[in-house]
Amino acid sequence: MKKAIFQRFILILSLALILSGSIFGAVISNIILDRTEDNMLYSVRIADHGLDYGEDLNVQVDQLKIVKGNEDTRFTIIDLTGNVIADSDVVDSTTMENHSDREEVKEALKSGIGYATRESETLKVPMLYVAILSQEGTFILRMAVPFSGLEQYIGLLIPSIFISMGITLVVSLVLANRFSKSVTKPLIEIAEEMLKLKEENPEFHFKEYNYDEMNVIADTTLKMSKAMKESIKRIEFEKMVRQEFFSNASHELKTPLTSIRGYVELLENDMATDEKMKKDFLGRIKKEASNMTNLINDILMISRLETKEAEVIMVETRVCPLVNEICQSLEPLANEYQVTLKTNCKPLTMIANAQQLQQLFGNLIMNAIKYNRPGGKVDVTVTSESKEMVIIVADTGVGIPEDAKQRIFERFYRVDKGRSKRVGGTGLGLSIVKHIVNYYDGSIEVESKLQEGTKFTVRIPLKQNINNRIL
Ligand code: ADP
Repeated sequence: MKKAIFQRFILILSLALILSGSIFGAVISNIILDRTEDNMLYSVRIADHGLDYGEDLNVQVDQLKIVKGNEDTRFTIIDLTGNVIADSDVVDSTTMENHSDREEVKEALKSGIGYATRESETLKVPMLYVAILSQEGTFILRMAVPFSGLEQYIGLLIPSIFISMGITLVVSLVLANRFSKSVTKPLIEIAEEMLKLKEENPEFHFKEYNYDEMNVIADTTLKMSKAMKESIKRIEFEKMVRQEFFSNASHELKTPLTSIRGYVELLENDMATDEKMKKDFLGRIKKEASNMTNLINDILMISRLETKEAEVIMVETRVCPLVNEICQSLEPLANEYQVTLKTNCKPLTMIANAQQLQQLFGNLIMNAIKYNRPGGKVDVTVTSESKEMVIIVADTGVGIPEDAKQRIFERFYRVDKGRSKRVGGTGLGLSIVKHIVNYYDGSIEVESKLQEGTKFTVRIPLKQNINNRIL
């Protein structure tokens, strides 16, 4: 990077020098030409004043040339038809060709003054010509000097050009070095700090730099590293939770399988002495198998909710018919547990997945029945409150101890393991409920008193379901 900055610096510098040199040269060339033309016009006008056009002009032009400093100057007198009358550099001017086609002569005839720069056909050197119409308007007086523009001065300019280029080069090399260091040093420091990412608990110390962009890089690196650490931690945590879930799930599956195997072996070894015992064993096998089915269904439901399955079909669902249907199907269970089931449902529709709503209501109502007492009650209320659907499932059952209230939503957590197993619980019901509530951006609360009863309150916002309407 340092090398690249250097190379670009030098390249830009060279381009700038070439460009400014060219512009400078062009401007100076023009100035030199202008000044020389002005001086020559002045001189030729003075010469015009001094000439006596009635006398021998050849002698007079030669005398003009004798003047100190005029050695290289050539004077020519041309008549209005272009014939050369006298020329300071040619002895016999009659031998010279007609000059009426010369640029400066043509111009002088037209406007009184004419200029031209070209190689002299007579002397074969680049010349600058200035011609004027004489005062009386009878002749053209022309003055010519060797002229090669800026080239003439190049010898004088070269040392100063080299000196200034040298100074600029040295200064810019020093500046380029400083600049490249000021850019690369912070980057190296940031890179060194970033290496700390390998450490267990890295502490980053980024300096405050002069360039805002460097501070942005430092800041972004810091944020990125924090986000990375957090996501690593989250992934590790999720991995741990998943592992724990799988080991719990296999343990939960192993228990019914072991007892099924036990009963099958008893039957195989003719341990069931009478029909009644046989039926009892078969009944137990059936119960364990149904526990396993419940468990597998719950595990599948949880994994589907966790992977946020893409194709969750959401349709406009009428909540009350769904609740009534669930209560109807749970009526036999309620009878078995000698519990009365009552519903009070305000007609509502919401965009939802019917299976998820069934699970949500089903699990809460089923728990309210199973963890109740004979003669107990279950009240299911569905209302709406400030754009929220409020579901209340209250029972008069055993209640939940204070310290277990938060834990009941954990997977496989049961307050009374024996009771849960007896009533066919999987320990996953409330965890599924919580997942579904979260899916709809809702909340769930539990109030409970031991031996008095439990009340679950679920709130689900209706606002997100654009098509929701309260009937
Ligand atoms: P389970 O399949 O064991 O019922 P859940 O996740 O549905 O699992 O519930 C977790 C535990 O919370 C249950 O084992 C039970 O101890 C307790 N619980 C849930 N609902 C009630 C309720 N309505 N009354 C009393 N205890 C409850």
